[in-house]
Amino acid sequence: MAQITLDNIAHSFDPYPTSEADYALKSIDCQWEDGGAYALLGPSGCGKTTLLNIISGLLTPSNGHVLYNNKDMTLLTPEQRNIAQVFQFPVIYDTMTVAENLAFPLVNRGIERSEIHNRVTDMLQTLELADKADRKAQGLSADEKQKISLGRGLVRYDVNAILFDEPLTVIDPHMKWQLRTKLKSLHEQFEHTMIYVTHDQTEALTFADKVVVMLKGNVLQIGTPEELFDNPAHTFVGYFIGSPGMNILPAKISGKSLKLGSVDMQLNKGYAELTGKTEIGIRPEFVTVTSASEAGSTGMKFDIESIEDVGRQKIVRGKVEGEIVNALIDEDSEIPSEPYAVFNADRICVYQDSFLVNGES
Ligand code: ADP
Ligand code: MG
Repeated sequence: MAQITLDNIAHSFDPYPTSEADYALKSIDCQWEDGGAYALLGPSGCGKTTLLNIISGLLTPSNGHVLYNNKDMTLLTPEQRNIAQVFQFPVIYDTMTVAENLAFPLVNRGIERSEIHNRVTDMLQTLELADKADRKAQGLSADEKQKISLGRGLVRYDVNAILFDEPLTVIDPHMKWQLRTKLKSLHEQFEHTMIYVTHDQTEALTFADKVVVMLKGNVLQIGTPEELFDNPAHTFVGYFIGSPGMNILPAKISGKSLKLGSVDMQLNKGYAELTGKTEIGIRPEFVTVTSASEAGSTGMKFDIESIEDVGRQKIVRGKVEGEIVNALIDEDSEIPSEPYAVFNADRICVYQDSFLVNGES
């Protein structure tokens, strides 16, 4: 098992890059703790697969170094790095049986037969494939083949890391949840360093101890689900994490004074002079919908456009000072006929040119 360091990684698929736009990965510096469960989260095309392949050794970066336990691995193959990688689509041997496919990575490493038998039996149970153990992989459904692929990554206990690239894309929804839970318990049992690529925040937040949020070839933030929720380092993180995401509104800030459109408010922290684009972020969870009399001086007229029932809560969507705002409120709270929105001042984040600015208490 290994701690993995990415030291100033950049990558261009163009052999002669001339500008930053030619780089799929811009400049990535980070450290993945030994035994951590990480999710790489970001929209399609942001560079997740490219980064994963650089970590595994399928791809050599244009710049920078990959270190495992402080040893330079940049030029070594995936086999030499001793990692397991599970891809988006199945990679298995059609002519072997299901059990033989699962045993293959172990046979290759000269593991004892009884041990192989135990692990394969266990994995067949986990994947709900026990009744198909002796069938050839050929002719199985895409879903079943992908489960075999996952199993081949998980039967090895001696790996430095297990890397998953959107491995549940072809798996049906009921099995998705089950496999994700299984991955998490395998992680707790064996403490492998696991890196799980996904564009789905629910997958990322349920699987990972730490989520790495990427956008356009950059890592914007590495944090626990709580950190990403409470203090998004970038407006994109705020917007991308959460359902609905963080409300982002243009604002004027001077010291502790906040001006939103025509409304003045006091912040709990003071800010040094801000330049460029200034915005505030407030999560829908921290927007209250109330009446003018209860809202008091910090209330802002809320022009509600829609109300959506989402189980125990309602998403109230409307405009505050001309800007779209979502509020998440209890299912049974009443909405007054002349509604006002109140932002919880403790929960307001301040952004300058899209990056979080910390205030002084
Ligand atoms: P993600 O996995 O987040 O969807 P990728 O890492 O696959 O993103 O891609 C990042 C960027 O690099 C995209 O703009 C993509 O078009 C480009 N890219 C990926 N693979 C190649 C390749 N083999 N050749 C050229 N461009 C590529
Ligand atoms: Mg990808």
